Amino acid sequence: MITAGVDIGSSSSKVVLLEEGQKILSKSVVPIGTGTSGPARAFEQALADADLRREDIALITATGYGRYNFPDSDYQISEISCHARGVFEVLPEAQTVIDIGGQDAKAVRIGSNGTVTSFVMNDKCAAGTGRFLDVMARVLEVDVSQLAELAAESRSAVSISSTCTVFAESEVISQLARGALRQDVASGTIRSVVRRVAGLVNRVGAIGPIVMTGGVSLNRLVAQFMQDELGWPVTVVPDGQLTGALGAALIGWNMYIKGITK
Ligand code: ADP
Repeated sequence: MITAGVDIGSSSSKVVLLEEGQKILSKSVVPIGTGTSGPARAFEQALADADLRREDIALITATGYGRYNFPDSDYQISEISCHARGVFEVLPEAQTVIDIGGQDAKAVRIGSNGTVTSFVMNDKCAAGTGRFLDVMARVLEVDVSQLAELAAESRSAVSISSTCTVFAESEVISQLARGALRQDVASGTIRSVVRRVAGLVNRVGAIGPIVMTGGVSLNRLVAQFMQDELGWPVTVVPDGQLTGALGAALIGWNMYIKGITK
């Protein structure tokens, strides 16, 4: 039996197709999220890659900010539960999950069976989310996927004092105009996001092992800087942008084997 997890975020759509709750048959990421063609495209792509049709899927579980806007879904589950479940599958010893997405960041404490025991979330302010990095990457004329590579060349990160993304963008533009090095600005930008999210993590209690998920975990410096900030080792979950979709597919599978169907 196959279950699907569809994670519809504010900036991207992710799908995992899972066989018997164990084997990932296909996965897809489309870099546009709720309110766009992204979710349907990501789903179609995952089906096509596995050579399957909609009728072959026993249960579709949607998660993420746009989970109620996917008519094909059978169930909707919060992304906090799905990230916890997805992490539990790959790193069962994890105690704290840091999920930084396109427009929010969450720190989640997980219990011994992969359920959520507490969480803190920032969804009010773009600073401390992927959006901040997207905006700064544009100013620095690199794709956000290249930001860590640029920042890795830095010897002295530029400090960004503005707490608001719009003001921080102007601040960065003036620093570049005054001759600041692009790599130093890139490093300062990543540090700024990490510092904000670390504040969130400390509110939930930074208990190790700590792991990172979400699209921003693909930036290899984020975990390294987070480790410096928190004073605990921070591990990145492999394929962390897909953890929510994996968790949704696993929760769907658990419902299916308990006899809960559409
Ligand atoms: P959401 O679920 O909120 O839509 P994601 O968890 O998919 O968001 O994260 C999207 C964010 O991840 C983007 O805003 C971007 O900053 C970051 N991101 C996406 N792809 C990459 C990449 N290849 N390298 C670094 N950062 C990335």
